Amino acid sequence: MSLEYLNNRLQFAGQDITAVAEEFGTPLIVYDEAYMRHQMRRFHNVLSLKDIPYSVSYASKAFSTLGMIQILEEENMELDVVSIGELYTALKAGFEPEDIHFHGNNKTPEEISYALNHGVKFFVIDSVDEIGLIDSLASETVDVLIRINPGIDVDTHEFISTGQEDSKFGLSLITGDALKAVKTINDSRHLNFKGLHYHLGSQLSVYAPFVNALIRVFDWLDAHEIEIDILNMGGGYGIVYTEEDIPFPIEEGFDVIIDKLKQLCEQYERPVPHVMIEPGRSITAEAAVTVYKVGTIKTIPGVSKYVSVDGGMSDHIRTPLYGAEYEILPAELTDDENQEVHVVGKLCESGDIIGKNKVLPKNIKRGDLLVVKSTGAYHYSMASNYNQMLKPAVVFINEEGIKEVVKRQSLEQLIQNDIL
Ligand SMILES: *Cc1c(COP(=O)(O)O)cnc(C)c1O
Repeated sequence: MSLEYLNNRLQFAGQDITAVAEEFGTPLIVYDEAYMRHQMRRFHNVLSLKDIPYSVSYASKAFSTLGMIQILEEENMELDVVSIGELYTALKAGFEPEDIHFHGNNKTPEEISYALNHGVKFFVIDSVDEIGLIDSLASETVDVLIRINPGIDVDTHEFISTGQEDSKFGLSLITGDALKAVKTINDSRHLNFKGLHYHLGSQLSVYAPFVNALIRVFDWLDAHEIEIDILNMGGGYGIVYTEEDIPFPIEEGFDVIIDKLKQLCEQYERPVPHVMIEPGRSITAEAAVTVYKVGTIKTIPGVSKYVSVDGGMSDHIRTPLYGAEYEILPAELTDDENQEVHVVGKLCESGDIIGKNKVLPKNIKRGDLLVVKSTGAYHYSMASNYNQMLKPAVVFINEEGIKEVVKRQSLEQLIQNDIL
């Protein structure tokens, strides 16, 4: 994504960010559409070069709106959903149900029936008790994968690490739950076992855990003589939030991972399965920035300076939730020297912080615009109405110009479901 100053004014994807914010208001989430397409193509390119059957499935939860889903369809992506709401959104955007996979550790009967009626491609079974539930609701054959827990500890934040033994997600290879699930599926009336899924965690910057997971999985498959058609390795490919982050090396990583897969298939004399991956943040996170307007500035002499903006944890929860760090830039550069400030939101929580000790011009003042980088994943999708804040507007910048893809919420919408 391109972000650069031209005559001291920040340009994003070739547009003047101040002008965009003036047109659509703040807080505003602005996406570079070309960057998202570029990331989707990188995954396609590296996998197609490996000459194996594969598909790339986008994890809806990172950011999904009708406009986003249209782009996914155009770029030959498949889609993961974990709720009836994500499925409904995808179907409303015209996404093919046979390219949609239904995940989640607690699918409700209503969600399962809805997904069955709309013909999703497969379900990813997350627990043994779910097998009987889906079987009882189905009237024809349903393809399923099982989500296994390969028992790989990864180096990331505890709340986004998922592939370790003690997790709410997945069926353990070690305790025997995964094996029990396969047997239960094989004994069911309607479920057809297609393969395995795992997701090791998120924001991973190295490929070693993926290689290690393959070794464990093939060992397990061999020990229990289980055949698979599909192997879904999940997502979690790391991106750059700040200069301290190392992005996942997509090209080199998949070259090594798929070579390992081929080698294991040869070693165990098995056909190469259809490979699936599920990137979320690596498609959208770096594709967007959030633009805020500065309001109150509070200086505590000799201690600190708080710069408040017109959004906060209602559209930027990752910092309060996991202490996630972001880079913050002024929309206009000045000649003034810099100083460290805390950029905070306007919501009623001391934890409503966007960034601590951020270097910004000393003469920053009410009305200036601040731009937070890498906010394209888990920002709009995690937005809330806390403090009755309005969810922000979202725009895409593309070759044709600027396209609004989500309108700012209105005051009427805030109370539309309230009953007096
Ligand atoms: C969250 C999630 C993803 C995507 O994770 P990213 O870090 O956004 O790439 C993929 N698969 C599953 C099962 C997930 O839960």
